[in-house]
Amino acid sequence: MSGPVFSNSYAALPERFYVRTSPTPVREPRLIHVNEDLARELGLDLQWISGREGAELFAGNKVPESAQPIALAYAGHQFGQFVPQLGDGRAVLLGELFDSSGRRRDVQLKGSGPTYFSRGGDGRAAIGPVLREYIVSEAMAALGIPTTRTLAAATTGEPVYRETRLPGAVVTRVAASHIRIGTFQFFAARGDTEAVRALADHAIARHYPHLSDDGRPYLGLFSAVVSAQADLVAKWMLVGFIHGVMNTDNMTISGETIDYGPCAFMDVFDPGTVFSSIDHFGRYAYANQPYIAQWNLARLAETLLPLIADDKNAAIADAEAVLDQFPTRFENAFRTGMRRKLGLEADRQGDIALARNLLDVMARNKADFTLTFRALGNDLEAAAGEGMTRSLFAVPEEFDAWAREWRARLAGEPMEPAARKAAMQAVNPKYIPRNHRVEAVVEAAAEHSDFAPFEELLSVVTKPFEEQPGMERYAEAPAPDERVLQTFCGT
Ligand code: AMP
Ligand code: MG
Repeated sequence: MSGPVFSNSYAALPERFYVRTSPTPVREPRLIHVNEDLARELGLDLQWISGREGAELFAGNKVPESAQPIALAYAGHQFGQFVPQLGDGRAVLLGELFDSSGRRRDVQLKGSGPTYFSRGGDGRAAIGPVLREYIVSEAMAALGIPTTRTLAAATTGEPVYRETRLPGAVVTRVAASHIRIGTFQFFAARGDTEAVRALADHAIARHYPHLSDDGRPYLGLFSAVVSAQADLVAKWMLVGFIHGVMNTDNMTISGETIDYGPCAFMDVFDPGTVFSSIDHFGRYAYANQPYIAQWNLARLAETLLPLIADDKNAAIADAEAVLDQFPTRFENAFRTGMRRKLGLEADRQGDIALARNLLDVMARNKADFTLTFRALGNDLEAAAGEGMTRSLFAVPEEFDAWAREWRARLAGEPMEPAARKAAMQAVNPKYIPRNHRVEAVVEAAAEHSDFAPFEELLSVVTKPFEEQPGMERYAEAPAPDERVLQTFCGT
């Protein structure tokens, strides 16, 4: 049996990129869960990581000799306000592992104690946000959405104090990298163009290696991030996901979803939905997400201008031309995804209007987002005015009117109903981590040290497209008294 062997290419960057920091040992490290599939992907010894040594690794009590733990420097716009120094205030990057496809993946402990960047915080995480991150990140991965992953969660045997006293925990996050828009901003705000260049070169080598022989690698980098983020936000919106804190420090260069704080999946469809308790003005509401992503990308462009061209005006013009492609790129990804959700193959004019009309009818009739799309596939063979989908709408006839148009569009593209249904159900999940279920998991763990609900929910939402007989209650929308209207940050 043997432990992981890390490398750390980030630690080879200049010293001002990070602060060397060891995790702070905890009283009683105990594993809640290890992600065996991910561990296999990373070539880890399952027996070793599932035992006592794994608990000590994933709680931060023992750092393997090969690791070079560091807390990363970054800045960021938080709700539109620039904060020149944020950084890993409760996380340390242990190092990188190569996965089975040869990709370098970061392994980071979060909740592992204070660092140089803690700004008075305790550097710790409570069990609730740790379990939420575990469940939601793994559900996102199973839904095929680029995301950081969760390798393990461990309890510390120590309390943390938030509004109340809560059990402490550490989550082990695996990411393509932890480079954020805010990492670029950290150096740009200090006028440190050499550091911005070193960071850009590192990001290109790591995420977009084809750009290294591009004539204009930095403009290419910006363009690649614009594309990746447009696709990502479209994918979120196609499953009703709301990130909740799209600050520039929570947006990656790799295009992975990162930082599961007050995120949530919508139940009833409403484009204005906001869950986050700290988002008073609805800045990060469901329907605002593409606009915010584009705003954040403009902040990234600002940091790259000195690298894009010597002449500032020329650099701005080049960056703007790339940024202007964001809306089209997003719309294309959203339209393609919506066509699949509606069982349509060819790209026809009017398809996006058909999709938008459905969303309008859903919003007016308080239809559940996930149930509606899943029910459409089940109803393919139902006659007009029949089937289950209509019952999800306050005024079923409004759905019927839309469904007549949809069926007319389907008729223009004949396909075996069974094949069409299979194609639809492969993109319209039955099981998402519904907020009321996540809250119940957190409550059982925090108040009764009962992790059985966590295990069950995790198992259900990591097979989102399968029927899973006996688990139907996890597909159901919350009863009125179960609805969760607010989610809270991990801080
Ligand atoms: P987040 O809300 O997790 O994206 O964190 C925003 C910033 O606050 C980051 O710089 C975090 O490292 C820092 N932070 C959040 N919670 C804590 C904590 N409990 N102790 C220290 N720093 C924290
Ligand atoms: Mg963050």
